[in-house]
Amino acid sequence: MSDTVADAAPADVDVVVVGAGPAGSCAATVLARAGHSVVLLERGPFAGSKNMYGGVVYPRILDQLHPQWWEHAPVQRWVVRRSTMLLTDTQALTVDFRTQSWAAPPYNGATAYRPDFDHWLAGLAEADGAQLVCATTAVGLLRDEAGRVVGVRTDRPDGDLRARVVIACDGVNSFLAKEAGLYTATDAANYTLGVKETLALPKEVIDERFGVRDREGVDIEILGGTGGVNGGGFVYTNLDTLGVGVVLKLPALAAQSARPEQIIAGLKEHPAIAPLVEGGEIKEYSAHLIPEAGRSMMPTLATDGMLVAGDAAAMCLAAGIWLEGVNFAMASGIAAGEAASEALRRGDVSTAGLAGYERRLHDSFVLRDHEKLRRAPALVLSDRVQHQYPQFVADVVERMFRVDNPAAKPGLNRIVREERKRSGLRWRDLLRDAIDGARTFG
Ligand SMILES: Cc1cc2nc3c(=O)[nH]c(=O)nc-3n(C[C@H](O)[C@H](O)[C@H](O)COP(=O)(O)OP(=O)(O)OC[C@H]3O[C@@H](n4cnc5c(N)ncnc54)[C@H](O)[C@@H]3O)c2cc1C
Repeated sequence: MSDTVADAAPADVDVVVVGAGPAGSCAATVLARAGHSVVLLERGPFAGSKNMYGGVVYPRILDQLHPQWWEHAPVQRWVVRRSTMLLTDTQALTVDFRTQSWAAPPYNGATAYRPDFDHWLAGLAEADGAQLVCATTAVGLLRDEAGRVVGVRTDRPDGDLRARVVIACDGVNSFLAKEAGLYTATDAANYTLGVKETLALPKEVIDERFGVRDREGVDIEILGGTGGVNGGGFVYTNLDTLGVGVVLKLPALAAQSARPEQIIAGLKEHPAIAPLVEGGEIKEYSAHLIPEAGRSMMPTLATDGMLVAGDAAAMCLAAGIWLEGVNFAMASGIAAGEAASEALRRGDVSTAGLAGYERRLHDSFVLRDHEKLRRAPALVLSDRVQHQYPQFVADVVERMFRVDNPAAKPGLNRIVREERKRSGLRWRDLLRDAIDGARTFG
């Protein structure tokens, strides 16, 4: 329940940004640079202390905010190899791409630890003049008598903080966005559970196993390997650890008995993964929800006195071959900061005054990518894509490369025809999914 406060009381600050993750720190930076007073609230003891993810950031969006960010960002490795793997119980089919152009500025993706990365980004917001207040949780919204959001209640004694604008960057469970009525409903089917193990291995071992050297890194995205649960997996290289994890569709996880740690154990035992992770000592186990359904689950993005950005607004792009949340969070945080600043300058922080936020998102990759890929989450997590196609494709490839002498090579057309029949896949479904795939990813 929101608390109603007297209209007349002045705001303590121009903006309170809740959550010092990538979205919140970028919003705070933009606002502080524009000369506004900003408090950046973080419930953890330091920014990033509570945050986890798979492991790869795509920080090019920072070019505009922090040029030459790569000279000081706390990066583990620069990703130069990107592999996409299809796993069945006994087979693996990998498309492995490598380029040295990603090993030099401005780079493409980097592995980084979130406590390091988020702490660094929040430090930059502070250096620009935002006031970072840690170990403080926003527990509710303050509203004036007309119902407009005018600040947050925190868990500190006398902890009400009045602000002309509140930007909720409080992550996937955003209680603030829900309290503000920005989400109409929450459906468990829109979320996946991400679980990850951080495995320690000497740097030389990682370099040798993954075919990299110095600061070069590898990103392996996996379809299959999650038992009967729809989802996917990943293996990322840090300097002397690996991030290995799975992303599991919530209703599918709840409907069966295997626990997430058993599913990761199964992935680590797969013949294609075991040699990569062998001997790795578990340093950390972490889990977090991912807003997976993209555009279809996004809330209303603004109300009087309030904006919502990053995972709090379901902006993570989870579209099968892409899992990008940090760059979408940073970009939406920047847009929220700019829109709030514009509204403050005009003296109109109503929903209409804050409309520049959604306009900016529509003009940027944030909503463009989400619009374009809006069918991807459902397609990628469908039973056929998850279970039948990997098996079908792997069987076709296995027969293509199997040398069955004295029999002659059967030819691709015959193999596809026979394997399709054996798999039980219907031409109708294949065609429909091919069209859907082409429309979604084309
Ligand atoms: C397993 C997994 C793997 C992933 N892999 C990747 C990947 O490889 N690459 C990628 O780009 N993305 C990845 N993501 C997605 C990415 O982590 C998120 O999209 C991103 O962190 C969103 O940033 P954010 O700032 O919106 O929210 P968050 O990073 O969740 O930050 C929210 C912040 O708000 C704070 N907070 C919450 N509530 C309150 C409150 N009431 N008061 C004060 N503070 C509060 C939290 O402590 C936190 O610091 C992954 C996610 C998961 C779970």
